[in-house]
Amino acid sequence: MKLLIVGGGLAGTSLAHHLLKRGVDFEIIDNGNNVSSTVAGGILNPLVFRRMTLSWRLDELLPFAYNYYHELEALFGCELLKFVPIRRLFASEQERGYWEKKQSQEAFQAYMHIQTEFDKNFPSSLNTFGTGVVKQSGFVEAAKYIEYNLNYFEQLGKLKRESVDFSQMDPETGSYKGKTYDYIVFCEGKDMCYNPWFGYLPMQQTKGEVLTIQSSEIDESESLNRKCFMMPIGNQQFRVGSTYDWDQDNVEITEKGRDTIVENLKSVTDAPFTIVNQIAGVRPTVKDRRPFLGKHATYPKLAIGNGLGTKGYMIAPLIMFELMEYLLDGKELDKEVDIRRFDKL
Ligand SMILES: Cc1cc2nc3c(=O)[nH]c(=O)nc-3n(C[C@H](O)[C@H](O)[C@H](O)COP(=O)(O)OP(=O)(O)OC[C@H]3O[C@@H](n4cnc5c(N)ncnc54)[C@H](O)[C@@H]3O)c2cc1C
Repeated sequence: MKLLIVGGGLAGTSLAHHLLKRGVDFEIIDNGNNVSSTVAGGILNPLVFRRMTLSWRLDELLPFAYNYYHELEALFGCELLKFVPIRRLFASEQERGYWEKKQSQEAFQAYMHIQTEFDKNFPSSLNTFGTGVVKQSGFVEAAKYIEYNLNYFEQLGKLKRESVDFSQMDPETGSYKGKTYDYIVFCEGKDMCYNPWFGYLPMQQTKGEVLTIQSSEIDESESLNRKCFMMPIGNQQFRVGSTYDWDQDNVEITEKGRDTIVENLKSVTDAPFTIVNQIAGVRPTVKDRRPFLGKHATYPKLAIGNGLGTKGYMIAPLIMFELMEYLLDGKELDKEVDIRRFDKL
């Protein structure tokens, strides 16, 4: 059994680690243009704040993800994952009400701290409706995750740093440049739109810009959130973002992006800061907010693992494990992620 993985971002590297553990041979081809997994805030947030709901399949995805990143830390001998409490500054009476109602419900207890007097009266002039603190939140150092992984697979002789030439691929036999594979798995992120066989799937390229700011006056012990996230990353620096520009496939940083983030930042802090850095990336977004997994209907040797969206760092480890089990063991895919849901397109 041998697989070819096209794309060494979060999706491709997660699949690669699962295959490695299972003792299945594979190669990765990555062209190094990574503009999503490298740029990402890497935030792991169990909650969806708008209606104070739990993130999709949270109880399965989050522990699997934490275990995955801890195993990689041991493998690479470096820190990738940081636990940081997220403090939500409620945006409305309604949000405060949701929190108060849900904080003691069984399903939410593992992810929400019961509000204290301090949380209610959080000492900030920007605190209007009170605050709540999330449990089990943090972030993955995204750029480091990609750098260490690509170096690791290169050292194992399993990574080629180049672009795939589709004209040299035979979808029927699953061969590429004369070598035949049991499966060719496309993990191309936002570039899926240009794939000759999977480009029909309804993905949107969603550009996002992120700032790094520095301030000695902002508390580094927690991440503040309202309209934007402000995540402490060490040395009095904070990652702040991000913007959402639909159907944009470019990574130019813009004045508009910077101004939007700076404006949003005013809803969590009024402390002075300097901007250290500004970057932009493009997310692979699916309209129904569920990943794309499955085999091509006409060419079953071609498979896909994509559409990770805004919570990619939380969902990729388990989702890509499920893709492996589907390809290798014939296990059924969760209908919500199976690309057959778009069969009528
Ligand atoms: C601004 C921003 C902020 C984000 N913040 C968060 C966050 O806080 N938390 C979170 O969980 N997620 C976040 N995300 C989302 C997350 O980054 C994505 O869900 C995830 O990284 C997508 O991973 P991927 O492997 O599918 O795609 P990518 O990371 O895009 O990887 C695809 C790889 O395939 C390569 N490739 C494509 N085509 C070819 C080809 N033909 N030949 C060879 N190589 C090819 C690309 O160069 C790339 O290296 C954010 C994204 C952005 C842009």
